[in-house]
Amino acid sequence: MFRAFLKVADRCEVCGEELFHHRADDFPAYIVILIVGHLLVPTALSVETNFAPPYWVHLVLWGPACLILTLGLLQPVKGAIVALQWSMGMHGFEQAKAKRDACGGDANTSATLHA
Ligand SMILES: [Zn+2]
Repeated sequence: MFRAFLKVADRCEVCGEELFHHRADDFPAYIVILIVGHLLVPTALSVETNFAPPYWVHLVLWGPACLILTLGLLQPVKGAIVALQWSMGMHGFEQAKAKRDACGGDANTSATLHA
């Protein structure tokens, strides 16, 4: 589905489904910030409350954790958002959805197999 880290391929390699219709924009980054923030802020507060380590320990713990979580989540979250737009027929995906609906949802099964 991706031709680079966050560049969505124009078409699916397997079935040729057009993917360039997606309009993910900043939504994946927003969702990743939401998830990482909700994971790290309570954890950091809990560590500070219970252990009160020096600030360099916080920097060593949460800096890399934030980087790893963010980079690890960006691509799957973007893929999920493009898939959501595709499945709901948003933006340019209306024709693909109409075709799927006409086929009785068979394309959904094939999309799940090689997503
Ligand atoms: Zn495909």
